[in-house]
Amino acid sequence: MVTISEQNLEVIPSLAEIPGRYHALEDTVAAAVQKAGRQRAEVRIELAAKYQAPERVHAALLAGATLLGHNIIQQLEESEKELAAAAAPAHRTHVIGHVQRNKARRAVEYAQCIETVDTLKLAKRLNELQEERIETGAAAGAYDVMLQVNSSGAESQYGIAPEATLDIAGEVAQLPHLRIIGLMTIGAHTTDTADIAHSFQVTRELRDALQKAGVSSATELSMGMTHDLEIAIAEGSTIIRVGTAVFGPRPRQ
Ligand SMILES: *Cc1c(COP(=O)(O)O)cnc(C)c1O
Repeated sequence: MVTISEQNLEVIPSLAEIPGRYHALEDTVAAAVQKAGRQRAEVRIELAAKYQAPERVHAALLAGATLLGHNIIQQLEESEKELAAAAAPAHRTHVIGHVQRNKARRAVEYAQCIETVDTLKLAKRLNELQEERIETGAAAGAYDVMLQVNSSGAESQYGIAPEATLDIAGEVAQLPHLRIIGLMTIGAHTTDTADIAHSFQVTRELRDALQKAGVSSATELSMGMTHDLEIAIAEGSTIIRVGTAVFGPRPRQ
């Protein structure tokens, strides 16, 4: 078993190295899941594909990836079009970056879930767009969303304040064309593992409270990235969003 801690994460892997990196990530996740006393099927890997050439994403899909995350709507659209043209393996794609109102339509068109709903206003816009899509036959049921929680309180991060999350979730849950499937967070940007764990705990407790309040569809917890995925898995994450471990440092940010 080769885990990502044995990979050089400072170097951009070649296209041919991407499958090995993806398999090392899978082994890392399997070990973390076991250590946490959880089942492997409880945690999905979402590949953070921002700034990656579609052929590199394609290589990861061929290695077994089934879920992609995009931050930038332009890249989401271009990448999905190229992957479709190249007949890449079937996959699901989520939006994991902040969605500006004028990008919402294309976000809904090219991704199957927006994880970063951070205002009621954006939720209402997505609800309208999905209603339109249903009317024109482009979609059948509700559109999946997650609410982004600013669990660390950092001003530089988007997301709903933890203390406002249940109220806003209650309002979003009333929108007929959206389905809240869970909560997403970035967590504390620090090397202090207790602080990181705390932001994940806050998010998990909110997810549990949301379910108790009757939003039974809210099962997912999208949390954990390359450097804190083990903590996130220990704290109950169901989706880890990983870029660097597979693709190396990003070409530009
Ligand atoms: C880029 C990104 C990730 C992946 O981060 P890595 O440290 O490269 O694994 C996860 N989540 C979000 C929201 C991102 O923007």
